[in-house]
Amino acid sequence: NKMADLNEKPTHVAKDTVVSLGYTLRVDGVVVDSSEKSEPIQFIQGRGHIISGLENQLYGMQVGEQKQVSVSASDGYGKLDKNAFADVPRDEFPPDIPLKTGIGLQLRDQDGNVMEGYISEVGEKSVRLDFNHPLAGKELDFSVEVVDLRNATAEELSHGHVHVEEGGEGDEEDEEWEDEE
Ligand code: ZN
Repeated sequence: NKMADLNEKPTHVAKDTVVSLGYTLRVDGVVVDSSEKSEPIQFIQGRGHIISGLENQLYGMQVGEQKQVSVSASDGYGKLDKNAFADVPRDEFPPDIPLKTGIGLQLRDQDGNVMEGYISEVGEKSVRLDFNHPLAGKELDFSVEVVDLRNATAEELSHGHVHVEEGGEGDEEDEEWEDEE
């Protein structure tokens, strides 16, 4: 019976298991993200939901197991793209935007696409914007712990994402994930 199989917990991380992962991400020794501030992340293993360099190192891990995983930039958020910079004259910025290094901005291109960038350099006449991911070009040092494992349901596998259970009703949570085409 299929329900019995679903209730049987997997013993280790394998393709299509739902992994609850606690993590701390350090870059250059500094914590930049951690599940201690929120909840462990949940994802279906083997579907590319998390960066590949981390996902590949999780296979075979058991509940409670911890691991340090270093991910090179090319297996993480990619190398720094030298073409992803733009120099914009200072007077094109609205006066309410502080022109300081590190300030994040959202810009709209001609097609209406929103681009997220941040100020990487403030010059006398122009401001350099960087549209690389903030972690592009960085080695990522993860400390991870497998907090829980379960089998994905048939519905989760067909949708390609995890259904987070709220109050025990397993299949009424789908509105914000509507993705069937
Ligand atoms: Zn769904």
